[in-house]
Amino acid sequence: MALTCPDCGNEKSFQAKTLQMHVVQAGGAELELSDQSTPAIFELLCDECETEVDFASLDAEERRELMLLLGAG
Ligand SMILES: [Zn+2]
Repeated sequence: MALTCPDCGNEKSFQAKTLQMHVVQAGGAELELSDQSTPAIFELLCDECETEVDFASLDAEERRELMLLLGAG
């Protein structure tokens, strides 16, 4: 995995933020979860300086590996 922060050169630790949508049904006695999307990556940040790393700059194989790691589809 060849991730590098463009600002500080960190290659080891990154923050991947994912976004997942849940549909909550509130009509009955209890709240129910009726649907949820698979998480999608919406932000990848350097863990050292919090500079945004361009997710699109990764090659397809690297993106796939990261998505699998995070359970994203
Ligand atoms: Zn950095």
